[in-house]
Amino acid sequence: MNASSLQALIDDIVAATRSRCDEGAVADYIPALAKVPPDRLGMAIATLDGTVLRAGDATEPFSIQSISKLFALTLALRREGESLWRRVGREPSGTPFNSLVLLEREQGIPRNPFVNAGALVITDVLCQRFLQPERAVLEFIHGLLGRTDVAIDAGVARSERQHSDRNAAIAHFMRSFGKLGSQPATVLDAYCAQCAIAMSCADLARASLFLAADGRDPLGGSPVVDALAARRINALMLTCGAYDAAGDFACRIGLPTKTGVGGGILAVVPGRMSLCAWSPRLDANGNSIAAAAAIERFAAETGLSIFGAS
Ligand code: GLN
Repeated sequence: MNASSLQALIDDIVAATRSRCDEGAVADYIPALAKVPPDRLGMAIATLDGTVLRAGDATEPFSIQSISKLFALTLALRREGESLWRRVGREPSGTPFNSLVLLEREQGIPRNPFVNAGALVITDVLCQRFLQPERAVLEFIHGLLGRTDVAIDAGVARSERQHSDRNAAIAHFMRSFGKLGSQPATVLDAYCAQCAIAMSCADLARASLFLAADGRDPLGGSPVVDALAARRINALMLTCGAYDAAGDFACRIGLPTKTGVGGGILAVVPGRMSLCAWSPRLDANGNSIAAAAAIERFAAETGLSIFGAS
């Protein structure tokens, strides 16, 4: 498909999916997120030649929340390599993103880097490597975009930190098993700030393009991570990126995805492109209903599911 037919397709998808924007509810357990205008819908595609296509509210920044776990994981893998897997697993959890239940049985080793427990371990790894881990994640994103105008929304970070009892419980519990090197408060400060990075669909599609290109920045050509790490990240997105809806997403969309409670969903078409859709209202699993519908439609219309066209 060329750029103009892809553009026409995402324009159509956004127009057709607007009717889904009133389904579900905006996340309000982080009070600052409840203030977001709920009817937004955006979609963007970045292709390997660097073209970025935008539709609807694709340039409006939103809170990337758990999509930040993707960039934090990439940075940690770059620093630690395969030894990272001694601290965090690679299995889907089948539990909500903020669940504690498996941690006791598994002695404080989280199931995967995308549930909150796993992401807190990744942040702990970054705390040991960087003085300001959230800045390291932000600057990593700046490097991927070639721009420095992406920022942490301090109000969202503060709001989440003030309401972080659940994540604090997870962090303390893991520390009780000797699985967290830094103090929970230090890890939570960095984690909440990292989740509060604000980006648009267009920027998220562009920043994640290396995952569609075997870990290389397709324009600069330099490796962001090696091909093995990129493959692992895509595999984890497919199996764990949408939490306890990962199986449903694999059936409906058939692409590696990462969701966030800000309503963003990022998807990778290996060897082709990266795309992102955003709409704030969520289903019971914390995944955006309209953004998932938009990406599902994209995969169906293009036949680009990694499992083949249907
Ligand atoms: N910051 C959010 C939390 O820890 C991220 C969750 C998400 O986006 N699924 O609860």
